[in-house]
Amino acid sequence: MKRAVYPGSFDPVTYGHLDIIRRASEIFDVLIVSVLDNKAKTPLFSVEERVKILKEATKDIPNVEVDSFSGLLINYAAKKNLHIAVRGLRAITDFEYELQIAQTNRKLSEGKLDTMFLTTSLEYAYLSSSSVKEIASFGGDISQCVPDFVAEMLYEKYRIVH
Ligand code: ADP
Repeated sequence: MKRAVYPGSFDPVTYGHLDIIRRASEIFDVLIVSVLDNKAKTPLFSVEERVKILKEATKDIPNVEVDSFSGLLINYAAKKNLHIAVRGLRAITDFEYELQIAQTNRKLSEGKLDTMFLTTSLEYAYLSSSSVKEIASFGGDISQCVPDFVAEMLYEKYRIVH
């Protein structure tokens, strides 16, 4: 049984993430999408909210599980007996950052945690959770970026009436 973890902030999940989730779910028997509870960042959505959003957005993909973790990914992966982390790559700027994290994780885990990259589908290459939040905060159209129920939740956070 091939299992992998897709870790991230997912604040909130976008169609870019969902595209990676769908494609990774076709490669692995089980894909665990895990929300990182990063105390150093101030997210818009709480971990509980992000988990709930991800569960709703992936409910039609039976082999996807949603979870959360804090601390080092290698410790979480070891506890769950997971050896592959999936990450998405949009541009060369993602690559430099992701390469460093992947190599650090491999080194720290003594080779037990490897990273697999999926390149973004071109139609989502421009998408990021932060740009979606910025557009939503000004009441802009985010229907091409996130599922409708996520857009509603975003406007609600920014108290935008649509
Ligand atoms: P981070 O974990 O770096 O705070 P995110 O939660 O936004 O960031 O992203 C988690 C993973 O999804 C990262 O590997 C990121 O590169 C990838 N990702 C984010 N947006 C997209 C997108 N539009 N297309 C493909 N991959 C993406």
